[in-house]
Amino acid sequence: MSNDKSVDISGRKVIVLRDVQDAAAAGATRLVVAQNSVITPSAREYIQQRRITLVEGGNVAASAAAPAAAASRPGVNASLFNSPEAEAVKKEICEVGKKLWMRQFVDGNGGNISYRIGPNEVLCTPTLCSKYDLTPDLICMVDLDGNQIAGVRPRTSEILLHLEIYKSVPEAKSVVHCHPPHATAYAITGKVPPNNIIPEFEVFVGKVAISPYKTPGTLEFAQTVIPYVQQHNTVLLANHGIVCWADTVTHAEWYAEVLETYCWTLMLASQLGTPISYISEQHADDLLAIKKKLGLPDARFDPNRMKECQLADMESSSSIAIDPTPCDGNIGRSSSSDREVDSLVKAVTDAVMQALGAR
Ligand SMILES: [Zn+2]
Repeated sequence: MSNDKSVDISGRKVIVLRDVQDAAAAGATRLVVAQNSVITPSAREYIQQRRITLVEGGNVAASAAAPAAAASRPGVNASLFNSPEAEAVKKEICEVGKKLWMRQFVDGNGGNISYRIGPNEVLCTPTLCSKYDLTPDLICMVDLDGNQIAGVRPRTSEILLHLEIYKSVPEAKSVVHCHPPHATAYAITGKVPPNNIIPEFEVFVGKVAISPYKTPGTLEFAQTVIPYVQQHNTVLLANHGIVCWADTVTHAEWYAEVLETYCWTLMLASQLGTPISYISEQHADDLLAIKKKLGLPDARFDPNRMKECQLADMESSSSIAIDPTPCDGNIGRSSSSDREVDSLVKAVTDAVMQALGAR
């Protein structure tokens, strides 16, 4: 204990690698930071590597003071990180990263992708890397507290968002976060798109929620999605973008595509000056039944949340200047259109079943 040396940098709001390196050079074994300070991933990683005790607002920070079980098992971590399964997931993450970039869902170093490879281990994209330029050797591994346990590059600062989803939803195996323009347009207006217009959206995504704005990269931001992710696989992040979770990396990216195309289509339709046709209630129920069978979440399965959803519908329908009243050619009223919807439903079901069966 006599060798302990505290260095106080609690006056800083943001703590970067350089601050921690300077403190270490001065012989620090304890680093005192303010409760609300933001510590960059590389700074946090350095603190852990040097085994410096982090004291946040007078309390020893759990993540740095007592490394998680996974972090103290270097051999186990290395074999998991280099396992054939992990190598396959790393490749899939890179392929999905290219898709996100090609579809213009991310720009600069925006967006991030992760996969829960073990009970306490998550593979994720590194910070400051275009999703187009991802290669398997750049992928990192963290534990559920966000401590980096493998990989040469520092992990994305947004991993905290992904980890809150994994902790809240045990079925979530992969999380994709991106900024697709049309879905983000909804997110910046604080509105969710209306439902019961296109079957594919109902089955794969359905009701989306919108979480409140907080500064990206913070734990406070990460925790904004907790109330929504059990009943929504896709959430709009206010003034930011979207986040999707699924059983595979590929499927999480599909949900981003389905939502983005849906939002785009609604915006195009709203310019035509003709009311949109809504799927009838009965046919909408059929789609929900398919969705339930597939094990995909939807807030509308929970009767307590139905009212909330209906209110959100009223708000969202008016917000994009689409007439919510079904027009004369309403799909639900025409028997020939009934058949069209039935065949669409069948096509969607077949595609989903095939996709699930193939994994
Ligand atoms: Zn983002």
